[in-house]
Amino acid sequence: MKVTLGFDDTDSPLGNCTTHLAFSLLSILKEKGWKPLDFPRLIRNNPNVPFKTRGNGSVALTFLVPSSLNFEKIHNELSTWLFNRTADHEMTNPGFILLVGELGSELSSFAQRALIKVLTIDETISLLDHPSVYYSFKGTGQGLIGSLAAIGNELKNDFTYELLAYRIANNRGTKRRIDRESFIRLDDSSFQTFSSYDSDTGRIASVPNGPDPVLYGIRGESANLLISANSVIKQLEKIEGWCVFRTNQGTDEHLVNAFPSLEPYEVSLIEAKVVNEPDIIAGGHTILTLERSSDGSQFHALAYEPSKSFRSTVKELRPDDRLIVGGSIRGVSPSELPTFNIERLDVIEVAPFSRLVNPPCPSCNKRMESDGVNAGYKCKKCKIKDPSATKVPVFESRSLEKGRYLPPIGAHRHLTMPFSRYDLAKQKKTYSTPQWSDFLSIDFSHANKEHVDFE
Ligand SMILES: [Zn+2]
Repeated sequence: MKVTLGFDDTDSPLGNCTTHLAFSLLSILKEKGWKPLDFPRLIRNNPNVPFKTRGNGSVALTFLVPSSLNFEKIHNELSTWLFNRTADHEMTNPGFILLVGELGSELSSFAQRALIKVLTIDETISLLDHPSVYYSFKGTGQGLIGSLAAIGNELKNDFTYELLAYRIANNRGTKRRIDRESFIRLDDSSFQTFSSYDSDTGRIASVPNGPDPVLYGIRGESANLLISANSVIKQLEKIEGWCVFRTNQGTDEHLVNAFPSLEPYEVSLIEAKVVNEPDIIAGGHTILTLERSSDGSQFHALAYEPSKSFRSTVKELRPDDRLIVGGSIRGVSPSELPTFNIERLDVIEVAPFSRLVNPPCPSCNKRMESDGVNAGYKCKKCKIKDPSATKVPVFESRSLEKGRYLPPIGAHRHLTMPFSRYDLAKQKKTYSTPQWSDFLSIDFSHANKEHVDFE
């Protein structure tokens, strides 16, 4: 019998981590003799959902188990175990689902919508109200949405892997000790990793900040190669172990599903025309007004200060340039127009652009000065006055090139496909049913041996 466990929103701004709970839970289920049917899946959903913690990542685990098991008891024991380890924080509203068998095609459509929209608890519960589903939650139950979306997203098209290594309990909250060189070299070696190092900012993108238990996460195209890559990373800290997840990170799966929406919090892909020259606003962000091609409605588009080189591209945009912008509408707009955070920019057409400047002096060719309101222009040097002269257009040379622009790696969303994956993503990917050792390594001399009794 196939069973799938899904859980989400177990972390908080203070620590904990949904993937680390998956790591511990996997060690329990391995002990029980459950047979994995897939790698653990780490699913990133709409990154703009309000009330999420960090990356809006949820986990699904799929197994083959004897149909004689008492699934209700298993659900009760595992959800108790999980919720006992969940952060007690108002931002943390965990959900846990155990699905026996399949749930039908509605489930995958739910999972596709979770990538781009803000789904409600009510529609989630209406799907969960099914004889083969056991579920439980704490707080608002927000976590049920991601849990169900993770179960429903079987990554049938493009996918990647991430190997996450976990810190021992005593080290959490302290500065991470890592060998920078190991990560800087990684993406240039033969392990097919990506987004390990952000050369624009010098930041090791594989290593998070903050109190969560992840020491580092390396992303790549192949689970086997990630395990090989991990073996060449110089370990400066003891780890509890590592786990390889199959994931939609780096696949643009949200943008593939997006519509030209201007609704708050939705992922959106909009063809638009530039209306005005970009402005720099407080905080150093770059803002410009765009007009949606489909209906002429206007919105503001923002490039964030940390996105450095990307921001300078946005600064080069001029009225009438044609674009396709991928990203999302902010919940609360700082202006009267909806405000769009740009995550990906396609420049489709670079329009000629001229500015009106004072006319040149007919004698010395320098720019003349105004001789007063509606009084024409004068050249002080040549003592020439021309009462009928008007401003003249001067065309700006446009160095902006057509094509795709992305923020630097360090400013990417988890879902954003980096340039380094563009060719690989076109190839059809497959994977075979993994053995435990294909994705899990746990060192019980450093990690707690967990046990849940449900036999
Ligand atoms: Zn002159």
